Amino acid sequence: MTSSATRVVAIDGPAGTGKSSVSKLLAEKVGASYLDTGAMYRAVTLAVLDAGVALDDPAGIAKVAQAADIKLIPNADGSSTVLLDGRDVSGPIRTEHVTSAVSAVSAVPEVRTKLVALQRENAEGRFVVVEGRDIGTVVFPSADVKIFLTATPEARAERRHKQNLDAGRESDYDAVLASVNRRDHLDSTRAVSPLRAAEDAVVVDTSDKTLMEVLDE
Ligand code: C5P
Repeated sequence: MTSSATRVVAIDGPAGTGKSSVSKLLAEKVGASYLDTGAMYRAVTLAVLDAGVALDDPAGIAKVAQAADIKLIPNADGSSTVLLDGRDVSGPIRTEHVTSAVSAVSAVPEVRTKLVALQRENAEGRFVVVEGRDIGTVVFPSADVKIFLTATPEARAERRHKQNLDAGRESDYDAVLASVNRRDHLDSTRAVSPLRAAEDAVVVDTSDKTLMEVLDE
């Protein structure tokens, strides 16, 4: 349970809907902190890959997750430094290697149990914008505000493709679209905490909107 001093804005939705940008700006605007729960799942995934554990070995994945020490340190610009066992992994967790493995790791129940507890602990007694997939449904079902961002797969792939090119990474639109569709499918069909909008969430379609238009809405 969270204490009455805890205030949460839950922002859920699939990849490429603009969740991170909206969450960071919103947090800054309302004077809240920002918690990126996807970064936690990515950090566990990196630990699993580093340990050489297979993605079809849930017991092995659970063991790595249990031993992993994950910390998110907020930076002045709204981003977070992600520490895995004291090592800064903020860059490595964004690679395609991790992105293509994260849905398999985050479907393991023990991984979710550990990270949900960590997320609740992080938010305890604070005013926080929390971004993820199951924040309004599972992590903070009584969040003060619940927002679910959606967009067409094509619009989301286009954004990711542009982000890659802007960051100087190689990118192929069709491959990005295939990856977005694959991750959506895995995240929304898993048995534990699948991606879905809470019944009381405000749904915002960001396909044809700028970041500022989404923020205003
Ligand atoms: O938000 P981001 O794309 O960084 O999330 C990476 C992955 O972590 C998602 O595709 C999903 O598999 C998992 N995730 C999750 N629950 C959350 C946040 C992320 O399962 N609350």
